[in-house]
Amino acid sequence: MTAEFLAGIAASDGIAIAPAYLLTEPDLSFEKKTISDSGAEILRFEEAVKQAHQEISLIKKRAEESLGSEEAQVFEAHLMFLDDPEFIGQIKQVITDQLINAEAALDQIAQMFITMFSAMEDNPYMQERAADIKDVSERMMAILLGLKVPSPATIDHEVIVVAHDLTPSDTAQLNKKYVKAFVTDIGGRTSHSAIMARSLEIPAIVGSQSITQSVKDGQTIIVDALAGQVILNPSQEDIANYQQKAQDFQKQKEEWAKLVDAPSVTQDGHQVELAANIGTPKDVEAVLANGAEGIGLYRTEFLYMDSANFPTEDEQFEAYKTVLEAMEGKPVIVRTMDIGGDKELPYLDLPKEMNPFLGYRAIRISLDRTEIFKTQLRALLRASNYGNLRIMFPMIATLKEFRQAKAVLEAVKADLLAEGQTVADTIQVGIMVEIPAAAVLADQFAKEVDFFSIGTNDLIQYTMAADRMNEQVSYLYQPYNPSILRLIKNVIDASHREGKWTGMCGEMAGDQTAVPILLGMGLDEFSMSASSVLKTRSLMQSLTLSDLQKLADRALNEAGTVDEVVEMVQALTQNK
Ligand code: PEP
Ligand code: MG
Repeated sequence: MTAEFLAGIAASDGIAIAPAYLLTEPDLSFEKKTISDSGAEILRFEEAVKQAHQEISLIKKRAEESLGSEEAQVFEAHLMFLDDPEFIGQIKQVITDQLINAEAALDQIAQMFITMFSAMEDNPYMQERAADIKDVSERMMAILLGLKVPSPATIDHEVIVVAHDLTPSDTAQLNKKYVKAFVTDIGGRTSHSAIMARSLEIPAIVGSQSITQSVKDGQTIIVDALAGQVILNPSQEDIANYQQKAQDFQKQKEEWAKLVDAPSVTQDGHQVELAANIGTPKDVEAVLANGAEGIGLYRTEFLYMDSANFPTEDEQFEAYKTVLEAMEGKPVIVRTMDIGGDKELPYLDLPKEMNPFLGYRAIRISLDRTEIFKTQLRALLRASNYGNLRIMFPMIATLKEFRQAKAVLEAVKADLLAEGQTVADTIQVGIMVEIPAAAVLADQFAKEVDFFSIGTNDLIQYTMAADRMNEQVSYLYQPYNPSILRLIKNVIDASHREGKWTGMCGEMAGDQTAVPILLGMGLDEFSMSASSVLKTRSLMQSLTLSDLQKLADRALNEAGTVDEVVEMVQALTQNK
């Protein structure tokens, strides 16, 4: 069999060789049969209940270890149903009374409970129970049918996870010790599974379109997330070649690691700040290990998404304080809640929207639901005493929104001071520039903000009118398009004219083709996945500012297409 290559989007660097672990839903269709020996059928059913119990207990234990006890609670609810004489008893009764097989009896009773619980529309607690019954009965059904229900938390040997998509909770359950890489059908470089992969430092390829169709469970595959390729049916020779490539990459990383304490300067001494993005306080470890000089984006929405209800002021305060203390005075930019778009919050009960990325999200929610916003700002201001805090508002479209947000911040500060609490007086307040309107009007914003941080993940999708989650239009997702470069330049220049600074926290900041142009355009701070910091520092050290300025000038004024821009960058960097 000859090897096949499947292309995808390289979402997190590295190479891995291991058997595939298919994280796909099993086909649970069954045949309804009449039986004669109900005693034997009940025994078979009881065995399935026992096995489900063992499997869920194991998942719960693993989830407790990797995610904490709160997240593991959902599995406690699953176990409760397996122990519930009402639920289990009724299934056995149906087997005896109707003389039908366990699969059919399970389906009949489970459907009855699900319908009953889901009907209680004004009772979210009961609706969640409907979801629990569905989960538990699907597991029992799979066991009865002799099928496997894959669960990322139970993986206990080296694998490459293959899935249609991974939810943030799937990704959080991946144990780095065993999961050597993952590959998905859908997604792009800026989808949240990709961002999580980079913070976990697991090689990943997303948007392969057909990996779940192309690979069988247990088949050895190679993930080359440097080239964005999956190799199916590899020969012994392919395996040996990629083992060599993996070793070379490891050596390269060891070289980069030597720069952990080095300054972020070009060959001729132009210095910028290289910072990292985080989603949770746990990510700070990788930030420090990779020598980042600050945190350029703390995505606080994970604090909200990982919780069953709004995090309290004290819970938030603890999280922010932990990060600020761990960073020991280095700058930490905390972005206020950016819920909406692809980041859902079940307990916020947002209406379904036609265009969630253009809808009720981020600062729009914060300015509308000020009680949520104020709680976050109080926690942040209290935490400001423990480090170098900067606050940033997401998705600002108008100057009025910034003024309103700033006014809420000032009011919260005045309340805290009146209560006798202390608040640091050095907090810089800035905005994310991720909506073209803000980029165009940067000169006006620059008079009032302390800094800008360009969010290219969104800025590109809004400028190009191309959904960042949709592979069909991913060809339009063009960071190096001269139109994007001009918007960025406009923001940087506007900030400098007012004596302010501009950073970038979108994925483009760590993109090795974009970095030379951004340096040449005068970007002051680059915030990226922690795993990209050292290679960016290494790249910078091989370049000189005057060359980069000329490059930026040509890309901005002479290039019409992405290809022309890439050629200009390559002409400079490949001579190094
Ligand atoms: C961005 O839009 O570039 C950004 C950093 O924010 P997020 O990816 O969280 O939307
Ligand atoms: Mg954004």
